[in-house]
Amino acid sequence: MTSGGQENEARLDPGQVIRRFGNRCLRLRCRPADPLAQETRELVEHLWLILGTEGGVGLAAPQLGVDLRVVVIRDPEAPKAKSRTTMINPEIIETFGPDVAFEEGCLSLPGLYRDVVRPRGVVINFTDESGHVHQIRSSKMFARIVQHEVDHLDGKLFVDHLPFRTMVWLSPRLVLQLLGHLIWKLRNRS
Ligand SMILES: [Zn+2]
Repeated sequence: MTSGGQENEARLDPGQVIRRFGNRCLRLRCRPADPLAQETRELVEHLWLILGTEGGVGLAAPQLGVDLRVVVIRDPEAPKAKSRTTMINPEIIETFGPDVAFEEGCLSLPGLYRDVVRPRGVVINFTDESGHVHQIRSSKMFARIVQHEVDHLDGKLFVDHLPFRTMVWLSPRLVLQLLGHLIWKLRNRS
């Protein structure tokens, strides 16, 4: 498990480049963020900047090498004025509905798209950048993006949800990544 010490932060080397598949930052369990801290404000700005540049629908702090529980989501189904949601310390408190398959991609795994099975709906609690607490219940695209992004905060990628058989076929690099992840899980079990 990763703590937020100075040495650790230095090693993470937060930068402007999206961390790609295989980078250890993507396998960290992130620590809670202080919604009103300067570092959180700067991180949120940075996330929105990079998401806008890359054109995705969601981005999580570890994808920029920062182990804080912060994600930004741009909901393509929402009206433009309400499409942007910043989530600090998001917590999925309930999932509901049938499990459904939906094609996912990730800015950390460019060019890779696969159907992932997840619950259709979620209830999520989070704090916004002003320190206000919100609860949202959704069974739309938003719920799918939320589950994908919150996974990032716990060191999970969408490929972890795929059947092992599919993982083997994807590429030898994914298999190596899977082994690395298993070791990571064993190390963090206690
Ligand atoms: Zn992703």
